[in-house]
Amino acid sequence: SRPIVAIVGRPNVGKSTLFNALAGQQISIVKDTPGVTRDRIYADVTWLDMQFTLIDTGGIEPESSDLILSSMRQQAQMAIDTADVIMFITDVRQGLVDADFKVADMLRRSHKPVILVVNKVDNFEKLMPDVYEFYNLGIGDPVPVSAASRLGLGDMLDEVAKYF
Ligand code: GDP
Ligand code: MG
Repeated sequence: SRPIVAIVGRPNVGKSTLFNALAGQQISIVKDTPGVTRDRIYADVTWLDMQFTLIDTGGIEPESSDLILSSMRQQAQMAIDTADVIMFITDVRQGLVDADFKVADMLRRSHKPVILVVNKVDNFEKLMPDVYEFYNLGIGDPVPVSAASRLGLGDMLDEVAKYF
């Protein structure tokens, strides 16, 4: 069966934008217990000769900051339990925050393949110096993308497909 790729990351880093850029129209929402933040969104994605199932583990996310870390932990655990490859999304504009380090630690300990995606790199020339900071997460080479401008998505998926 097709490999499962899960998208994990803080609220507002651009998970849904990336998901939509890759998924096009084929989107289905899977609802869990109401009020819990586990709703997942699935799509079957075809990209060149690759086929995989993409999951946005974010679903409906909390707005209160004290719930963000626990929600991220839930997302990461779901991804660890179900995915073949995890895309961990960060945001070059917000930079790194404590929750990123905590989730990165969790993903590292899982020994699952993780692609560290740095989103909102809308101008590669200008913003690449800021991308290097993300090496500090200790989960590998940061892959710059702009989900909104659809930049870098092919190179990102090449990294993902290395684990298929
Ligand atoms: P999520 O909460 O992680 O699912 O993030 P969303 O996909 O909802 O995006 C949060 C905000 O970031 C929205 O205002 C998006 O338009 C914006 N955004 C997403 N991707 C990019 C990008 O590549 N560049 C810029 N500048 N903004 C982006
Ligand atoms: Mg979202």
